Amino acid sequence: MPVAVGTGRWLMSGDLLHRFLFEELPVRGHLVRLDASWRAAVEHHAYPRAVSDALGEAMAAAALMAGALKFEGRLSLQVESPGPLKLLLAQCTHRHAVRGVARHEPAADLAEAGNLFASGRLAVTIEQPEGDRYQGMVPLTGAPLAASLEQYFERSEQLPSRLVLAATAERAAGLLLQRVAVGDEGARADADDAWLRIGLLAATLRPEELLEMPCRDLLGRLFPEDDIRLFEGTPVWFQCSCSRERVAGILQALGGDEVQALLAERGDVEVRCEFCNRAWRFDAVDVAGLFSTASPQQASPAIH
Ligand SMILES: [Zn+2]
Repeated sequence: MPVAVGTGRWLMSGDLLHRFLFEELPVRGHLVRLDASWRAAVEHHAYPRAVSDALGEAMAAAALMAGALKFEGRLSLQVESPGPLKLLLAQCTHRHAVRGVARHEPAADLAEAGNLFASGRLAVTIEQPEGDRYQGMVPLTGAPLAASLEQYFERSEQLPSRLVLAATAERAAGLLLQRVAVGDEGARADADDAWLRIGLLAATLRPEELLEMPCRDLLGRLFPEDDIRLFEGTPVWFQCSCSRERVAGILQALGGDEVQALLAERGDVEVRCEFCNRAWRFDAVDVAGLFSTASPQQASPAIH
């Protein structure tokens, strides 16, 4: 079971994203565990268990994808569904700051529906600092989130991938394996066999192993015949990008009449961030300032 490791943070500590590669196969991977960053995302919400597990898996997946794809900016993994799980949004920046939010119907409807991914779509969006935006999409057909993401990688990135995800109230975790392209024909046939074998072995990973087992032991358990190089983990943390300017933009987009009505009703206008629960308050003077010089900005009224 030769799994080589560098020095440092390779043990069980959470909130780390690890890269690894197979020394003798064109396969690479990432392994992530979210602890404090995951709990920070859910501490202000009372999500039903099924929603919380789905969001945890989505956040682990977003972190894995941020590790695997080359970009600068922010990656969003978004599930939109006409079913009881209305929205699942998990985001990770290229610096591995994560956040996430879910919207859903009452718990009884969720329980009755059973499969939360029966219909709707899964979108992966990458927003770059210069304003470039890339989006890929796959329909949801009842497969687990991991399977839909494998389909996304196959279709949009031409990267055959295997993904295993798990989440509890305490921790979210994920394993991503990806096949790297090889040039010559003969090597490709061998790589096909190896990739099949790796996929079958990855499918034996149990959720409790993914959540709890030290990374080195986990890779050794799954792939006992392969030489794997496991790299030191890079930290993943919870960070929200909400700001007073963004909230001001949302209020401007709502329009003067609407905001004045809110002001008249309550004395001030409070907008609470869905991701981090921070409250942004605007009093009468602030509101007057917003609409005196403003040309309304384009902003999503709900999520910013
Ligand atoms: Zn926030």
